[in-house]
Amino acid sequence: MLVLQKTTSIRTLYSDYERVEALLNAEDGFNSRNFDLFTVSDLIGREKTLPLLSVHLFLQHNLIKHVNEHKLSRFLTEVSTTYRRDVSYHNDLHGIDVAQMAHLFLVQGGLTQLLELNHLDTLAFLTAAICHDLGHDGYTNAYHVNRVSQRAIAHNDVSVQESYHVAETFKILSKSEANFLDELKPQAFKHIRQRMIGCILATDMAKHASDLASLKQLIDSKGISEGENAHLVLNKENDQSLFKSQQFILETCLHACDVSQQTRPFSTVAKWTYLLFEEFFNQGDLEKTHSLPVSFLCDRETTSIPTMQPGFITGVTLTLFAPLSQIMPSMTEFADSAKENCEKWQAYQEGEREKLVYVKCKQQN
Ligand SMILES: [Zn+2]
Repeated sequence: MLVLQKTTSIRTLYSDYERVEALLNAEDGFNSRNFDLFTVSDLIGREKTLPLLSVHLFLQHNLIKHVNEHKLSRFLTEVSTTYRRDVSYHNDLHGIDVAQMAHLFLVQGGLTQLLELNHLDTLAFLTAAICHDLGHDGYTNAYHVNRVSQRAIAHNDVSVQESYHVAETFKILSKSEANFLDELKPQAFKHIRQRMIGCILATDMAKHASDLASLKQLIDSKGISEGENAHLVLNKENDQSLFKSQQFILETCLHACDVSQQTRPFSTVAKWTYLLFEEFFNQGDLEKTHSLPVSFLCDRETTSIPTMQPGFITGVTLTLFAPLSQIMPSMTEFADSAKENCEKWQAYQEGEREKLVYVKCKQQN
C-alpha cells in the first residue's frame, strides 16, 4: 500500500488524518459513547478505518513516542487485513469498536489514574483491544471443539479462538518490519506480552462467571461503593501483587468492552446485533449440515432476535457494567443506556431488511 512507503511521520503517513481528526474530535466523536463507527468508516473507507483510528488512539494516549511509527503503521495494516471481511461481526470494525470503548474506560472511567497505569500498560491494553478477535472465523469455541477443527486441535480445546487471536497478534509482531515494539527493552516487551495475553484470553465468555464472582468479592471486601475506596482495587504490597491487581481489572474491563455494544445508542446497537446474528445463524446452518447440536441462539428458524436481547443485557452486559460503575462511577451512564435499550428491545418491531437475517444463507464451508 502507498501509505506504507518510507515516511517517518505518522501524520504525513496518513495523508487524510487531519480530516479524520476533526471528525473524531467533534461532539459525539471518539470520546463519546455515541461514537458512530459505521458512519465514520463509510467516510474514511473500510481499509483505513482500523489503522487510522488506532493511530488516533495512540496519539490520544501519547504512545507514539514510545514506538517505531513506521513499523506501527505496518502492524496496523496487517492487523486490519488479518481480520476477515467475510465475517459479519467479529471483524476489523468490531476490533476497533472495542478499542474505542477501552479508550472510554481509560479516559471517562479514569482507569489510567485509578490503576496508576504507565505507558507500557496503556499500550498493552489498547493493542490487546484492537487485536482481541484477530483472525476470528465467525464460529464460537464450542463449534470448534465439536467439529474438532484445526484451531481446536492447535489449542487443545482451551479458549480456542482467544488463544488463536493472541497467537495471530504475536505472529505479526514477530515480523521485523511490523514489530513496532522492537525498541523496547526485553523486560518491557515481556511486560506488554503478559498484559496482552491475559487481556485477550479474558474475553473468553467461559471465564465470565468466575471473573465476575472475583470482581464482586473484591468490591465487597474493600467496601467499594460509588467510587469510594476504589483505589483499594490495587494491591501495593510488592511489584508482583501490584501487577496482578492491575491485570485483573484490565482483563475485566476488556471483557466488559467486548460485550459493551448494548450500551451504545439504540440505532448502533441494532446494527451490531443483526450482524452478530448473521454470524450465529450461519454457524447454526453448518451445525445442522454436520448433524451437530445447534448452539444456543444459532437456529435461524426458532430464534427471535429482539426477544433474546433483554436477557443478554441483564445477564451479561449489566452484570459487568453495574459493579464496574461502583469502581468507576462515571461509567454509570453506560449501564443506564443498556437498561434503556432493554426496554427498547422489548417493544421492538423488526424491519423488512432485518427480517432477511432469518432467511439469508451467506456462506457454506
Ligand atoms: Zn470481541
